[in-house]
Amino acid sequence: MVKLAEWRGKEVFRKYGVPLPKGAVARSPDEARSLVTKGTVPLPCVIKAQVLAGGRGKGGAVKFANTPEEAHAAATAILGLEFKGERVKELLLEEKLPIARELYLSLTLDRSARLPILMASAQGGVEIESVEDSAIVRQPIHPFPGLSGYEKRRAAKVLGLIGPAAKSLDRLLDSLWEVFMREDAELVEINPLALVGDRLVALDAKVIIEDDASFRHPEYAEIRDDRTPLEEIAREKEIAFVQLDGNIGVIANGAGLTMATLDVLREFGGRPGVFLDLGGTDDPAKVTEAFLLMAQAKPRAVFLNIFGGVTKCDTVAKGLVQAMGNIPAADRFPLVARIRGNNEKEGIEILRAAGITSVASLKESAQAVVREAGGAA
Ligand code: GDP
Ligand code: MN
Repeated sequence: MVKLAEWRGKEVFRKYGVPLPKGAVARSPDEARSLVTKGTVPLPCVIKAQVLAGGRGKGGAVKFANTPEEAHAAATAILGLEFKGERVKELLLEEKLPIARELYLSLTLDRSARLPILMASAQGGVEIESVEDSAIVRQPIHPFPGLSGYEKRRAAKVLGLIGPAAKSLDRLLDSLWEVFMREDAELVEINPLALVGDRLVALDAKVIIEDDASFRHPEYAEIRDDRTPLEEIAREKEIAFVQLDGNIGVIANGAGLTMATLDVLREFGGRPGVFLDLGGTDDPAKVTEAFLLMAQAKPRAVFLNIFGGVTKCDTVAKGLVQAMGNIPAADRFPLVARIRGNNEKEGIEILRAAGITSVASLKESAQAVVREAGGAA
């Protein structure tokens, strides 16, 4: 999966005719100021950190400026910031438009329906996860005919757009559909899609390109900025490691068990912050490496959930005990372990000798780790 930074996503949008604010990228405060003085970016302007995590608006990674000096100051404040684990190296400067309403629009795949799906909501500008279900319309789209006139009119109605604004939506949806299909995207999202007067403008762009189509898109092969620094290290060590927003670390084996473990934690109010899939390994050193990597992500608590198969319980236990001895005191974390399956007895014995208890019940172990991380959200 290749996640495009906002400015790259907008470059793609521009190619397909999605309306955008005037803007340009800066990599230093001086460059930011000069974009404004030269008039490349009109004032007042918006200055946005180019990180992949969402919630920049709330998190102080989007600022406004009325003068070149303010643009310089805002750029100084944002560049070099660490936002949700990502260092800000690039800024997008854009003209600040007077927004009448903020809407939400996306195209993605509905894997259970096996169809692309159009999602639209009149409540844009906030994370879509926080919008109640009844305020979001989900319209499956048949991939061959694409968006029909009826589907576009339904979207206009949901978004409360009439007249020229509805026309603007009609054209924008055609462009967005082209982006989704031709670029082999698994997600294109505009949030917020702003109503400015009676036209629509994409103020944000989130584009994710499907890995399986990478052979058709050599232009995306060089993009590496979709991984956090720790994810980059993990990738070099061939460890499946993904950082999320929460505070609980998960170490499991196999994609299925790993995903199920995340779900179970959420079920009990926990927020997974990073997960690591040990996969199939019979090398305790690899397990140690995985734990050391996990420690660097600084989780509040870690849940080790292993079902021994190829990866035997005693292998994991040995690697774990080894790692615990090597983690710097400042990076230590409360651990809840659950190891079952192949060589379970031996594994539990090794853990016990190191003062770690394996909790047999999935429910009890998940609840315990949520408690250790500060309780249910
Ligand atoms: P995100 O929070 O990371 O998704 O960043 P967004 O690109 O969505 O920007 C966050 C918020 O900044 C938006 O919801 C808008 O309220 C505000 N914003 C961004 N661009 C503009 C603009 O051109 N004009 C105005 N008035 N507000 C903007
Ligand atoms: Mn946004």
